[in-house]
Amino acid sequence: MVTVEADVEGVERRLVAGELICPGCSGVLAGWGYGRTRLLRDRHVLVRVRPRRSRCIGCAATHVLLPVGVLLRRADTLSVIGAALAARARGLGFRRIAVVVGRPAETVRGWLRRFAGRLEAVRVVFTRWLGAMDPDPVMPEPAGTRWADALTAITATVRAVGQRFVLGAVTPWEVVGAISSGRLLAPGWPGELINTSCP
Ligand SMILES: [Zn+2]
Repeated sequence: MVTVEADVEGVERRLVAGELICPGCSGVLAGWGYGRTRLLRDRHVLVRVRPRRSRCIGCAATHVLLPVGVLLRRADTLSVIGAALAARARGLGFRRIAVVVGRPAETVRGWLRRFAGRLEAVRVVFTRWLGAMDPDPVMPEPAGTRWADALTAITATVRAVGQRFVLGAVTPWEVVGAISSGRLLAPGWPGELINTSCP
């Protein structure tokens, strides 16, 4: 799976131009049909997403081109889930957050539980990205809680990405989606760090 921009025509142009690269072998990806259509819940509207599929002309592996802003196996967009995570970092409980983002309390609780188990790993991953984006980064001060530390690292990294690249219509949470390859709440991400922290 490869994350791509939300702009469908832009993705198609880059496919035709051979600009999308296989994460397995660095070969060029070519169009290979479409994944199934999914209906995602954004803040106030449903969005229909039909991810493009691609096939590597080097190793023949197929990769779904997941638009940034979409998380693997989640029915809500990253902008909704991200708002819930940020609210938790500000100290709100899941019932209150559920009202704020307009989702069932149990759904919100599921997101928070999953993210709570990877706060330190998320902080480390985004802090590394911050160092890679900015040669002289201002590292965030401890924010008081592990939740706040993780969200502070995310915010600082998104800001650094915005200073380095012209993001145009890309939203901060779409940057997070790209950095996590759509796996922010998926099992096994960020794998390498989880592996090293397990006895
Ligand atoms: Zn390949």
